[in-house]
Amino acid sequence: MKAILDHIGIAVKDLPAALAFYRDALGLEIEAPEEVASQHVRAHFIPVGGPKLELLEPTAPESAIAKSIEKRGPGLHHITLRVDDIGAALDQLKARGVRLVDDRPRPGAEGALVAFVHPSSAAGVLVELKQLVVRQAHHERVAGRYTIGDLELISVCDGFIRLDGGSMFGTVPKPLWERKAPPDDRNRITLAMRPLVVRGARTMIIDAGLGGKDDAKFHDIYGVDRSRSLDDSLAAAGLSRDDIDLVVATHLHFDHAGGFTMRDATGRVRPAFPRAQYVVRRGEWEDATHPHARNRASYIADNYLPLMEAGVLLFVDEDQTIMPGVSVRRTGGHTRHHQMVVMESQGRSAAFVADMMPTTAHVPDAWIMGYDLYPVDTLTAKQRFVADAIARGTLVFFEHDPNIAAGYIREANGKRTIQPVS
Ligand SMILES: [Zn+2]
Ligand SMILES: [Zn+2]
Repeated sequence: MKAILDHIGIAVKDLPAALAFYRDALGLEIEAPEEVASQHVRAHFIPVGGPKLELLEPTAPESAIAKSIEKRGPGLHHITLRVDDIGAALDQLKARGVRLVDDRPRPGAEGALVAFVHPSSAAGVLVELKQLVVRQAHHERVAGRYTIGDLELISVCDGFIRLDGGSMFGTVPKPLWERKAPPDDRNRITLAMRPLVVRGARTMIIDAGLGGKDDAKFHDIYGVDRSRSLDDSLAAAGLSRDDIDLVVATHLHFDHAGGFTMRDATGRVRPAFPRAQYVVRRGEWEDATHPHARNRASYIADNYLPLMEAGVLLFVDEDQTIMPGVSVRRTGGHTRHHQMVVMESQGRSAAFVADMMPTTAHVPDAWIMGYDLYPVDTLTAKQRFVADAIARGTLVFFEHDPNIAAGYIREANGKRTIQPVS
């Protein structure tokens, strides 16, 4: 099992006195308090670079924290280790005779699952195990529906992958990004793959996730979780691959185009949407079929060459309308011909921005992926887009965000925030 230090819990008897030190004297930023009703405790997290400090304030006399303060006084209370699979971790500890406070995981702060190990088995330290549950939370709303005028937009999901956190945030220092996207023990962060179905004059899907052609080694490197895949998500929306008339590629990286093709019973790779035509930017096709050392790992020929053989490709050379109300717009930046998809109907607008802003954390100007081939072009495209999206109230879809499929960008006092829409 691998575990990383998540935070250190401090039992607090006198909150104003604790804040006088941590907030006022040290000048640290205290996050908004979080009430954990089941524990009768209010948690105040303090970012301090890597693992956080957590001030724990009891809210009722029966709280375990209140009892601990009564018995041992305030002070260091527990350390928290983050694990990938808390159920498996508890099984492993039980098998080794470790004394547990909690046999089974229960809900903790920040929407996580937690369980405590008894100090008598852990060198006198109360140890909390924690698993982030972003995936379960997502699966409950695996197909979100939105309406823009005459167009119905359905956010679907092909599961999750993990990519290096440093690569995902480029020049942004880790102490800043890890607050928004906690890394695992291999420094990877969890990213969703959320294609978008657009129903109007025709039924279109934008991107198609990773697909199911990859082997175990690939799954390990990229931490692939497709326990619920695009097929499940389409089914939840009352759709299947046969309903799709058009597939639009924002670009041909494997986490966007892998689902364009599938292996049939004979092992042959063929188009995964049997009735569909596939819209691809010609420049992106040229780059994907002539990769160089810097972008080769992102392009896998099996994801798109079979489309050429099957004669289902529609190349676009410039920004244009694909079906009424839906058009493609080149952003460049991430790849030279990366494009976003803009939806407009009855005065309302939405945009599928793909890897120009893969998650809500990438909305600030300087938060640009290290993967981008032309980061300054990303900056220019993003600045222009965000100003326009704020002015017009555009609903923005975040293809890789593990928690928020879509939202409105707001700006106040130079700070951008996202108002999620579900
Ligand atoms: Zn990409
Ligand atoms: Zn991507």
